[in-house]
Amino acid sequence: MSSKSTILVVEDESDIAELIAYNLEREGFKVESALSGEEGLSKARKNLPDLIILDIMLPEMNGLDVCRALRSDQATQRIPIIMLTARNEDIDIVTGLEVGADDYITKPFSPRVIIARVRSVLRRYKEPAASKSESVRLGELTIDQGKRRVSVSGAPIELTHTEFELLYVLAVRPGWVFSRTQLIDSLRDGQMVITDRAIDVQVANLRKKLAACGHYIETVRGVGYRMTETP
Ligand code: CA
Repeated sequence: MSSKSTILVVEDESDIAELIAYNLEREGFKVESALSGEEGLSKARKNLPDLIILDIMLPEMNGLDVCRALRSDQATQRIPIIMLTARNEDIDIVTGLEVGADDYITKPFSPRVIIARVRSVLRRYKEPAASKSESVRLGELTIDQGKRRVSVSGAPIELTHTEFELLYVLAVRPGWVFSRTQLIDSLRDGQMVITDRAIDVQVANLRKKLAACGHYIETVRGVGYRMTETP
């Protein structure tokens, strides 16, 4: 499917950049490399790659700044971005997701993980999220957005307005990681103030009500939540 896609790798550590490039090329991807944020940004604007692997720790212009710049430029705002982060840099991961990265990989990583993530993110971009009126089916879970009905293995489940919205946001994009702030933003409807803690409580209630499908909502430690890709 994506074997001729071009991937731009922005990483100042040349051994890591070469390892990624070698493995992507072996899988049939075309790879371009940039050793600094500035170079990455200019190559992204010039060549419009199909996907960007972007290290956060770059000298001078760091990966988060590059990500912000890409997302604020109309030409590049739709290019999928996978961030590379050091292990345990949860703050960076959360910030990265909030400035528009699609996914992240923590170092050290295996080449297989890189390939799998690249394919998964490219696939998500090819299959756009379900439109508003559509129903979502995921394993034993069915969500009818129009009728605002949810069922597990065919049995209807009663959800509150907020629980429904939260479930729907997660379910239309299985596999995508959402930070708590992103979930809060997607639920905000004017008067209600929602906190991080409230999101955790809502998710706990949702999991309970979803019973056999409760584990479909996965906790991404230190970051947020996502709907499983493989129910
Ligand atoms: Ca680096």
